[in-house]
Amino acid sequence: MVLAELGGRISSALQKMSNVTVIDQKAVQECINEINRALLQSDVSFKLVQTLASNLKKTVNPDDLAAGHNKRKIMQQAVFNELCGLLDPGKPSYTPKKGKQCVVMFVGLQGSGKTTTCTKYAHYYRKKGFKPSLVCADTFRAGAFDQLKQNATKANIPFFGSGRHKQEASLFEEMRQVSEVTKPDLIIFVMDSSIGQAAFDQAQAFKQSVPVGAVIITKMDGHAKGGGALSAVAATKSPVIFLGTGEHMDEFEPFDVKPFVSRLLGMGDWSGFMDKIHDVVPMDQQPELLQKLSEGSFTLRIMYEQFQNILKLGPLNQVFSMIPGFSTELMPKGREKESQARIKKFMTMMDSMTNAELDSTNQKLFAEPSRINRIARGSGHTVQEVQEMIDEYKRLAKVWTKMKGLKIPKKGDMSAM
Ligand code: GDP
Repeated sequence: MVLAELGGRISSALQKMSNVTVIDQKAVQECINEINRALLQSDVSFKLVQTLASNLKKTVNPDDLAAGHNKRKIMQQAVFNELCGLLDPGKPSYTPKKGKQCVVMFVGLQGSGKTTTCTKYAHYYRKKGFKPSLVCADTFRAGAFDQLKQNATKANIPFFGSGRHKQEASLFEEMRQVSEVTKPDLIIFVMDSSIGQAAFDQAQAFKQSVPVGAVIITKMDGHAKGGGALSAVAATKSPVIFLGTGEHMDEFEPFDVKPFVSRLLGMGDWSGFMDKIHDVVPMDQQPELLQKLSEGSFTLRIMYEQFQNILKLGPLNQVFSMIPGFSTELMPKGREKESQARIKKFMTMMDSMTNAELDSTNQKLFAEPSRINRIARGSGHTVQEVQEMIDEYKRLAKVWTKMKGLKIPKKGDMSAM
C-alpha cells in the first residue's frame, strides 16, 4: 500500500469511529483494528503494530470521547502521537553547515538509488546556497562513474572521480576503506523502500561496518512497503533524512517525523509547505502570496501567477499537496505534459479577461453568460472550455479559502495545527 493510501485508510477509520452515535469500547476497538490492518498491509512489523495498538487502547479512554468532546480530534491526536513514536529514531542527524566543508559519503546496495539520490541531495543543497560537488568512489559497479557523471552534468554540478572498476574484494571492506581515507562528516545509507521491514537487518548490517549517520529511503512513490521500511529504519535508531519519491531531480522530500505523520493523516504539513513556497515561488512574490493565503482571498490573478510558476518551475502541485484536503488533480503525476497544455490554455483565456475580473473575489461574476461568451470569443475557445477554467478556479479558491485566518506556523512549530 503506498503511503497516501495508508494515510487515507487511517483517516477513514478515524472518520468512521467519530460518525457512530455512541463511542464505546467496541467502536474504539474497531477503529484500532482497522488502523492495524492498514499498517500491516504497509509491511509494518507485527510487533510494532501490536505495541502501537496496545498503547492506543491504554491512552484512549471512551469516557473522554463522550459527547461534548471532539472525539475525532482526541483519537487523531493519539494516533498521531503513536505513529510519531513509531517513526522517531530518538536522535537528530548531522546537517551540513554553510561556509564549512562537509564530506558526505553515500553507501548502499546496488540499485538502491545512490547515484540518483546523491545528485538529488547535491541539487537540494545547491538550491539552499551551498556549493556541492560529486565524487565517484564506487569502484565496484560497471558504469557507476559514467552514470554519476551523466547525472552531475545534467544538474550542472561539478564532478570528480577515478572511474576505476573492479569486481573482487568485498563491498563492505571497500566501503570501510573509502570511509577511512575520506573521513566523511556524514555517512548516508541509501535504501530501497520495497524491501519493507527487511530494512531493519540491512540497515543494521551497514551500521556495523561504517558509522551510518542518516538514512535516505528511495522509491517511496510506488511501493507497498513504505511504512514497513520507515518504521524498520527508525527501530535501528537511525534518522531518516529524505525520501526519494520518483526518478526526477526534485522528487525528493526532506523527512521530519511530525510533519510527515501530520500529512499522512491529512492534517497538513505546514513546515513542508513553507519550504516548498520558499523553493518554488520567486522570492519577491512570497510575502504577498502568504498574506493573500492568510486572508483566504483567491483571485484569478493569483491563479494566473501560480500557473506561471508551475510552467516555469514545475512542481507547484507539490506545494499544494501539503495543504490539508488538497488533492493533486491539477497536475497528476505522469501526466505533466497534458496538464501543462491545459494550464497554458487556461492562461490564454485569462489573458482575455479584464483587470477587474482578474482581481475580483466575487465568484457570482462568472455566472453571467455574456461574460463567459465574451472571454470565449476573445480567447478563441469554446464557452464550455471557459466554464472548465472557471470551475478549476472555484475548486482552487475553495481550498484556498479554508486557510483564511490561519496562522501559518514558523518552520518546525506544529502547535498551531
Ligand atoms: P545505485 O546503483 O544505488 O546507484 O542506484 P541508481 O541511482 O542507479 O538507481 C537505480 C534505479 O532506481 C534507477 O533506475 C533510478 O532511476 C531508480 N530510482 C532511484 N530513486 C528512485 C525513486 O525515489 N523513485 C523511483 N521510482 N525510482 C528511483
